[in-house]
Amino acid sequence: MKFTQEFRDAALVHGVMAELRRTLTRPWVLMEICGGQTHAIMHYGLDQLLPPEIELVHGPGCPVCVTALELVDKALAIAEQPGVIFCSYGDMLRVPGSGRDLFSVRAAGGDVRVVYSPLDAIKIAQQHPDKQVVFFAIGFETTAPANAMSVLQARVLGLTNFSILTSHVCVPPALDAILGSPHSRVQGFLLAGHVCAVMGYWEYLPIAARYAVPMAVTGFEPLDIAQGILQTVRMLEQGRVAVENAYPRLVTQPGNLPAQKVIQQVFQVCDRKWRGIGLIPMSGWALRPEFDAYNAEKRFAVGTIQPEESPLCIAGLVLQGLKKPPDCPAFGTLCTPERPLGATMVSSEGACAAYYRYKRMEE
Ligand code: SF4
Repeated sequence: MKFTQEFRDAALVHGVMAELRRTLTRPWVLMEICGGQTHAIMHYGLDQLLPPEIELVHGPGCPVCVTALELVDKALAIAEQPGVIFCSYGDMLRVPGSGRDLFSVRAAGGDVRVVYSPLDAIKIAQQHPDKQVVFFAIGFETTAPANAMSVLQARVLGLTNFSILTSHVCVPPALDAILGSPHSRVQGFLLAGHVCAVMGYWEYLPIAARYAVPMAVTGFEPLDIAQGILQTVRMLEQGRVAVENAYPRLVTQPGNLPAQKVIQQVFQVCDRKWRGIGLIPMSGWALRPEFDAYNAEKRFAVGTIQPEESPLCIAGLVLQGLKKPPDCPAFGTLCTPERPLGATMVSSEGACAAYYRYKRMEE
């Protein structure tokens, strides 16, 4: 497996760790923004290899975790309507809304299907012209191009029974909000390599400069992550603020321009609520008005929904790097992957799920 196995080479990872130990003169707090990186760090035991001076805190880069509770509740309300086929990525089915989830809608007779791409939902719409097919379009910049393409494809095919429930969120405004908080302890960032593969990393340059926080675009294999940490620490130790690219085999500064063009054609920037965190201005994408015909929120009158989060859940603080999962009194007792109280215990990218799965029960 070219470009995979060589980045899992234990000797090379240990070599980077040794260089990191030589570089360090004091403690630093770094945030990995992406939940996929959180899981990779624990899966490969990188957190246990790191020198004790390095503390990793976990960011909000888990699309399932940050999808607003109101939108999960809207998804539930749409999915239970007769004549609807509701399509979603698998992780979303167990995400608790206000008291139930998409699995329980399916158990009660709703037609809720797991798909692997929005184009699967397009196929279902073609096969079932008598049904309304809705795709739950969640995610960061990584999933936006395919979701935008599905809307364009539906228009080309003349489909009148396809729509998307949009919950797109964007990383840079969230990063800005985290660093702007007076409680932030984050001194350096590992940026999400896959997001930067789409969007480039030019958007982070002014944020790094504004808060004097260095950042490194970082991949997902152990050597990539170790390298991203080393580059960030080097900048911190040298008192240098920059955005470096530690994932050059996939990322360029301008990013994927055709993908960005498709996103801009279909979506426009909007304010967006993040689950557990609240509203972050200009942090999401919504369908442009010319695509209203494909907007599930306009097609289905689900009305105003008053969501209710579990009062025990501190996922919002976890997602901002202010607390760690074992700080939550419900962690591993009232809240487990089998009986989750919050989305971060459900998702394959959620920090609570990572701590539970890899048995990091105490900090
Ligand atoms: S352990 Fe469960 S209840 Fe606690 S923060 Fe995580 S998801 Fe929320």
